[in-house]
Amino acid sequence: MRRPGRHFLQIPGPSTVPDRILRAIDNPTMDHRSPEFGDLGRRALDGMKTIFGTESDVIIYPASGTGAWEAALVNTLSPGDRVLMCETGQFAWLWQRLANRLGLTPEIIETDWRQAADADAIEARLRADTGHEIRAVCVVHNETSTGCTSDIPAVRAAIDAANHPALLLVDTISSLGSVDYRHDEWGVDVTVGGSQKGLMLPPGLSFNAVSGKALAASQTAALPRSFWDWGEMIAANKTGYFPYTPATNMLYGLVEAIDMLHEEGLEAVFARHRRHAAATRLAVETWGLEVLCRMPEHYSPVLTAVMMPEGHSADALRGIIHSQLNMSLGNGLGRLQDRVFRIGHLGDFNDLMLLGTLSGIEMGLVRAGVPHRKGGVQAAIDLLADGAAQATTRAA
Ligand code: PLP
Repeated sequence: MRRPGRHFLQIPGPSTVPDRILRAIDNPTMDHRSPEFGDLGRRALDGMKTIFGTESDVIIYPASGTGAWEAALVNTLSPGDRVLMCETGQFAWLWQRLANRLGLTPEIIETDWRQAADADAIEARLRADTGHEIRAVCVVHNETSTGCTSDIPAVRAAIDAANHPALLLVDTISSLGSVDYRHDEWGVDVTVGGSQKGLMLPPGLSFNAVSGKALAASQTAALPRSFWDWGEMIAANKTGYFPYTPATNMLYGLVEAIDMLHEEGLEAVFARHRRHAAATRLAVETWGLEVLCRMPEHYSPVLTAVMMPEGHSADALRGIIHSQLNMSLGNGLGRLQDRVFRIGHLGDFNDLMLLGTLSGIEMGLVRAGVPHRKGGVQAAIDLLADGAAQATTRAA
């Protein structure tokens, strides 16, 4: 059946790919060993440094984010190494499972999946590790399953306060290009990123930004690696080339995405995300529904996870909205299955797209018979229409 109009892709990534990026990807595939390719490769690699906020090496893999997770671990660690991981939600849990499968020994700081990483708990655990057996601390910056964002400078400060030499590994797969992030300034050793969220690209590229300390660790790290090995990549990347066939057309798109982010200005991009998140939460509260993230200081600018009233199915609501209104919302993952729906408000997104999204949800709540109060969309309109509020959110 033909479905007129555009699909609303309001999952928290992949996000909607703007036409400008689709047109860039549409260029003819080039010879990746040709003289011209080196220029494209260097533009992509240098451009990504400005997005990560780093002067050090950035690695680009033709892989989804999971590949870059694995790369961060196998390049820096050895079999049996202890890693301290904060289980903030499903993605932190998956990273932990991956570490287990690689033969590492994760130590878990658990949460109730309604809050971000607890820097005090990290500091306490590191202080207790007087033998410095913990080799790395792994934190998901923006937990896409819950809509909670962790304070990375606070985690860095916790490691420093404990005077602990562990590496700091941060997953920014759903925050990079949407939430303020500074690899060098915040003292992160490996930052993991992905293409399909704030970078507005299709899925298929992922990244490691690598500190000097992480690079030094890779010299002695003994986990087996070949495809993910930083050494060969960095050597080939110096002239803009790759040790194996890169995802050429995705690199065209990546260069375009970096240009678009800088044209808008990263600060403006981050402020736009915060403002849309605030309007979304206002709508949710007006409906009388509960945001999953419990602490305002942890609210994600990228997505909002909404709890269903007792006895109501998030998947039934999502199903009605998908089939009748042509909009995808994120599902509840892991232990949150059917308990929450997730609203993505990230990437190439504006006020009217947000209002369309919220309208679809308000209509869906009616059609699915979910108890709620009216007026969520109107509250969001009032907030977005108010120039003063806009200025305040920008300054926040
Ligand atoms: N980490 C986070 C925070 C994510 O949101 C995702 C995917 O959504 C991943 C890791 C896994 O990435 P991928 O599905 O691209 O392999």
